[in-house]
Amino acid sequence: MKKKILTGDRPTGKLHLGHYIGSLQNRIKLQSTYDQYILVADLQALTDHFDHPEKVTQNIIEVTKDYLSIGIDPDQTTIVVQSQIPEIAELTVYYLNLVTLGQLNRNPTVKYEIQQKGYSKSIPAGFFCYPVSQAADITLFQAELVPVGDDQLPMIEQTNEIVRRFNKIYHTNILKECKAVLSKTSRLVGIDGKSKSSKSLGNAIALSDPPDVIKKKVFQMYTDPDHIKASDPGRVEGNVVFTYLDAFHSDQEAVADLKAHYRRGGLGDVVIKNILNDSLQRLLGPIRAKRDSLDTNMVKEILHYGTAKAAQLAKATIEMVREAIGIQSF
Ligand code: ATP
Ligand code: MG
Repeated sequence: MKKKILTGDRPTGKLHLGHYIGSLQNRIKLQSTYDQYILVADLQALTDHFDHPEKVTQNIIEVTKDYLSIGIDPDQTTIVVQSQIPEIAELTVYYLNLVTLGQLNRNPTVKYEIQQKGYSKSIPAGFFCYPVSQAADITLFQAELVPVGDDQLPMIEQTNEIVRRFNKIYHTNILKECKAVLSKTSRLVGIDGKSKSSKSLGNAIALSDPPDVIKKKVFQMYTDPDHIKASDPGRVEGNVVFTYLDAFHSDQEAVADLKAHYRRGGLGDVVIKNILNDSLQRLLGPIRAKRDSLDTNMVKEILHYGTAKAAQLAKATIEMVREAIGIQSF
């Protein structure tokens, strides 16, 4: 039997180049060898969008279109709508007994997000506990591999702690530990150069951005503030244009030459931005064209089919879990 993979994204906006390089490319590569499930994580998205649920519900179709347009094949990958699998919520409740507030408090990604969202005075409990529901996602689908960006490593660690605790307390081995699959660029910086590119920070290039928006964002990119005239020597490290050229340009030898030229001086920001713009337009043009050709009803059918298939696996796992704990039906 093929090993299982579980990944997913929160439908809080369209997917971007960070998703592409951080985990989507791995998912495309792995889908033919493994039994891959992708979760459109609408429940998890509600933990910080509960007061704007329409933002989440509207983006389920958009994110699914992103998957299909980059080459996720619904015959090989099962795309699942999280809220339609109630076993995830049930499993989360069992797992909440196995973690302490102290453990949740130590999670560096959640800590950072609490600060970023200004929650420090009153943290919604659902948000604080989302790593536990992520452990339920992964283990319900019996996943051994999880292709993610590196901000998710604390979630994988938390999942494995829960797995070990569950197996020990209930004298079983039904739950399996999982491993993250990271990519070469496991954290793509935003166009502002400050933090990782993300939907909520508005500093990302979406896979579906039209050509003029891509160009505008490339020309907004942070470079080297001391590189004032083209003739000045420039810094490549921390220069967002070069970070993106490293990640997305198809000819890395040409990128090495550009870096050497920029360092010695004589290469202007407009020239490197035009080169990056050309290479992003080449990458994203066909993805956008594929997206535009997708029929929304067909996309809904794919979600319906994937969710129904996933429901069977969810049922099988939850039955094992209930039996291990000793939950009875009457
Ligand atoms: P939000 O701002 O709503 O949190 P996001 O842009 O951070 O959205 P998520 O849906 O939280 O995206 O992330 C989904 C997956 O994509 C995770 O595995 C995450 O690690 C990966 N990912 C997101 N942004 C990046 C990035 N900039 N670089 C690498 N991986 C990323
Ligand atoms: Mg995020």
